[in-house]
Amino acid sequence: MACKQCGKCCTQFSIVYPNNDEQAEFLRARGFKAWQSNDKFTQWVLRTRCPHLTQENKCDIYEGRPLACQVFPVTLMYQKIGLDPDKAVPKGCGYKFNEETQTYE
Ligand code: SF4
Ligand code: SF4
Repeated sequence: MACKQCGKCCTQFSIVYPNNDEQAEFLRARGFKAWQSNDKFTQWVLRTRCPHLTQENKCDIYEGRPLACQVFPVTLMYQKIGLDPDKAVPKGCGYKFNEETQTYE
């Protein structure tokens, strides 16, 4: 499978931080929600629609979109730190993490 062009990854922002009560309070106060965690790390997600996402779920700056958007999803770090790489992408995303190749396919 691959990108279904659903635009879901353009409606949320995800970041991983080492567990820290002060950091967690800071993120919660700004609307982030804990998505998955273990004893050391938490993935935080902020639901927000990118202003460059059109009503047709197209990027209006596609040719010049940020590098993070160009390489999504290549977040190998998720598995290295013990978080589920399949949860690093939005629900219903066409990409699945392949344990053998260590890449999203
Ligand atoms: S969430 Fe996945 S399938 Fe949907 S646009 Fe983003 S990469 Fe493509
Ligand atoms: S810049 Fe484009 S690709 Fe990146 S999140 Fe916004 S709409 Fe999506």
